[in-house]
Amino acid sequence: AELDTLDIIVLAALLLGTIAYFTKGKAWGVTKDPYSSSFANANGSKAGKTRNIVEKLEEEGKNCIIFYGSQTGTAEDYAARLAKEGKSRYGLETMVADLEEYDYDNLDAIPNDKVVMFVLATYGEGEPTDNAVDFYEFIMGEDISFSEGNDPPLGNLNYVAFGLGNNTYEHYNSMVRNVNKALEKLGAHRIGDAGEGDDGAGTMEEDFLAWKDPMWAALQKKMGLEEREAVYEPIFGIVERDGLTPESPEVYVGEPNKMHLEGTPKGPFNAHNPYIAPIATSYELFNVKDRNCLHMEVDISGSNLTYQTGDHIAVWPTNPGEEVDRFLDILGLTEKRNKVVSVKALEPTAKVPFPTPTTFDAIVRYHMEICAPVSRQFLATLAAFAPDEESKAEMTKLGGDKDYFHQKVNIHHLNIARVLKSVSKGKPWSNVPFSALIEGVTKLQPRYYSISSSSLEQPKMISITAVVERQHLPGREDPFRGVATNYLLALKEKQNGEPNPCPFGLTYEITGPRNRYDGVHVPVHVRHSNFKLPSDPTKPIICIGPGTGVAPFRGFVRERRKQAENGETVGKTILFFGCRKSHEDFLYDKEWQEAKEVLGDKFELVLAFSREGPKKVYVQHRLKERSKEINELLEKKAYFYVCGDAANMAREVNTVLAQILSEERGIPEAKAEEIVKNMRASNQYQEDVW
Ligand code: FAD
Repeated sequence: AELDTLDIIVLAALLLGTIAYFTKGKAWGVTKDPYSSSFANANGSKAGKTRNIVEKLEEEGKNCIIFYGSQTGTAEDYAARLAKEGKSRYGLETMVADLEEYDYDNLDAIPNDKVVMFVLATYGEGEPTDNAVDFYEFIMGEDISFSEGNDPPLGNLNYVAFGLGNNTYEHYNSMVRNVNKALEKLGAHRIGDAGEGDDGAGTMEEDFLAWKDPMWAALQKKMGLEEREAVYEPIFGIVERDGLTPESPEVYVGEPNKMHLEGTPKGPFNAHNPYIAPIATSYELFNVKDRNCLHMEVDISGSNLTYQTGDHIAVWPTNPGEEVDRFLDILGLTEKRNKVVSVKALEPTAKVPFPTPTTFDAIVRYHMEICAPVSRQFLATLAAFAPDEESKAEMTKLGGDKDYFHQKVNIHHLNIARVLKSVSKGKPWSNVPFSALIEGVTKLQPRYYSISSSSLEQPKMISITAVVERQHLPGREDPFRGVATNYLLALKEKQNGEPNPCPFGLTYEITGPRNRYDGVHVPVHVRHSNFKLPSDPTKPIICIGPGTGVAPFRGFVRERRKQAENGETVGKTILFFGCRKSHEDFLYDKEWQEAKEVLGDKFELVLAFSREGPKKVYVQHRLKERSKEINELLEKKAYFYVCGDAANMAREVNTVLAQILSEERGIPEAKAEEIVKNMRASNQYQEDVW
């Protein structure tokens, strides 16, 4: 392991105890940043680190490894929480690991006094998350082979499994279900039930909490563990760096990695390394006072980023100043906000989820999901640091009583700072170790948007169509406002000439760290998707995209229009679009007319306005009205696409399509449902839903 000067300073500071070190928490947030050597080194990570799990467990003296397959950070977060709890309650030597970072052919060589946990999110159409693809392919493989060649192959392996899914999707929790089946088949021993959390029902957190206690009890029995009083032990040490100021060149004030710090960001741009892209144009799409929908053109010509029509763009948001202030304030950190600190993992397998040295302000503003829902378990952890007995009792109650928590916190969408403030009646929570916050507050996540431009038409300019998130909540004066979309709204205002944008009173560090985002830039990367036009442009397509679900279809229609302009023959395109009112939230009205002029009867727009007639009309009703034509097009192998709301619309469209096939073809509904399933399996039916 190489020790750089920073390491030595940090270690010395820790040893001498000349430290303001207050830490604890959750996110063994694993930041896999290949470029940010500075914090990787600060964590003592080794250059050629092993992909061998058995070796790693030995090396680190661990007996419990928690693998996560995570897309949006929740599975990673749960893995960290299990690690923390296993250690503090049962003295297990736990470590968290990204599935992507290990090989699996020696899973059978893990001794049976150890346990392997899998926390697996299911993504999209029953797919593994990006970081779990290789593992999934391996474990589901036909002729899988292991190093030891035991019989049964995984007879030695003890495992625990929890899945994160969404029941509104057809392949609910298929990752954990399939992996569990595969492991069982290979002779592995599961401890406790294979848990399933349901984001669709909004019960993910409670499902997790309800699953984990019986699992711990079973594990305790199996491994002969003794439960002890859980004492909080910080995972991160925080060292104040008196010699440094936020202006010092080595101090991160929001830069995502070292290249950005040095002012020389270069590709590949990806989930660990955003491109700071100029916003070329931006404008409002709605024609109504209290709701906003943004159209934004993001210029990627200065990067080596590429995209294809149907891909997603990820936007890296920053938190609004008002929430950053609220957070720092209630934790008694306002005066220290610009103090430079180094954060060091005190546990060798944990990784600091942001680069350091940095400031409290930068950590909270750029790296913590401070506005997100609060976990009940986290409130229970924080009870120990309450400023007075009354607050402690209240926190313990919130942490322990599901219904009380729901009433007091959940339904008002309170974030952590708002909860703390209301519990202590404004008294600062100065005793909370900062490590606890790093551990307990998830890492700020990029938000995805379905690209609404065509790569054929504009390969270096990406369009975003985003509705600005806002919810009025009972018993709350100010509405809940979404993090990324209000940040985008501020950027839009700036781009349109407002020097100090503050939509709805929210302000942002809009010029970014060291003003590097000035001139209206936004950090982004591209995620490739499977949501794609047929490779043969003459195939007909049926697109269902109400609301912002129309985003990728704007790209599809523009692509076909461009193809037609280039003299290609294109197949029929029917787009079902729905919104509330034709003169309020009808997106891209003019563009559809222009497309019609080029495409003629090859393009048809079918509209459903839900608040104009006596009865609510939605896209699925319009679809049903076109049964005959839809069936004929599908018989001609038309592709069928659905984008937008996963909770209701996508599911209803699926049901309606089965009804259409059943009626038009005179077959039983069950048979029609089977056909729809097969269409999905063969990619003739594609979804891009959220
Ligand atoms: P957030 O702050 O992330 O809030 C979002 C929701 O989370 C809230 O409405 C609320 O339900 C919940 N929430 C947040 N904080 C709390 C709290 N403290 N308590 C309780 N609940 C809370 N959107 C588009 O507009 N256009 C698109 O084209 C588009 N494409 C997408 C494609 C994909 C593949 C995916 C996954 C999503 C897509 N989205 C799209 C959605 C988008 O990614 C964002 O989720 C959306 O813009 C909201 O982001 P936000 O940061 O503004 O809101």
